[in-house]
Amino acid sequence: MIRVLVWNEFRHERTSERVKAVYPEGIHNAIAEFLGKEEDIEVRTACLDEENCGITKEILDETDVIMWWGHMAHGEVPDEVAALVRDAVLDGMGAVFLHSAHHSKPFKALMGTSCNLTWRETGDSEILWVIDPAHPITRGIDRYFRLEHEETYGEPFVIPNPDKVLLIGNYSGGEVFRSGVTYERGNGKIFYFQPGHETFPTFRVPEVQTIIKNAVRFVAPAYRENIGCPHVNTVDSGEPYVR
Ligand code: ZN
Repeated sequence: MIRVLVWNEFRHERTSERVKAVYPEGIHNAIAEFLGKEEDIEVRTACLDEENCGITKEILDETDVIMWWGHMAHGEVPDEVAALVRDAVLDGMGAVFLHSAHHSKPFKALMGTSCNLTWRETGDSEILWVIDPAHPITRGIDRYFRLEHEETYGEPFVIPNPDKVLLIGNYSGGEVFRSGVTYERGNGKIFYFQPGHETFPTFRVPEVQTIIKNAVRFVAPAYRENIGCPHVNTVDSGEPYVR
């Protein structure tokens, strides 16, 4: 089983009638609902307003893949919590950052750049083009798919060059955006996926769900180990290797 922790800020859904109408149980539960139907995936959720943001080292030790959605309250995530997530990814935990999580503390810590972008909320439609149809994350997706409305995210997206660009979004307002990108950091695999603005039912779109499910399986750890920086003697010394 792949143990997934879906983390959500869960503020908009409680404060905005418009968002509540789309995700009455919160974005985390909308994602957990479709992920939980998969035989090989086990889901838990955690939210910003839980004690310690619902994240401890022990919880992360029992998490294979973390999924992160945040927007208005990135700054309220304590640096220590962001560091726990970053370190778990460096050891091998998988991570999927959704939509406005481009500005979350753990994502920025793993990227090392501002992760800034251009944006607009005018209800543009979006076509997501599959750039890499051979990749496991785009399996089952046609040449492209459409979202009736999304928040517009445009280039320049200030991220390091991705290992792979899997999807490019093209908006009716003209912008293009690197909407699905992968990275490796330490032993961990990372996927950033642009769709998922809180006022649109994006997480109910079948193609979006397929990509998220594929991403969970792709970033799930094959190897998870904290690799230290030990002093070692010569190979002939017979000294055991202690990380
Ligand atoms: Zn948004």
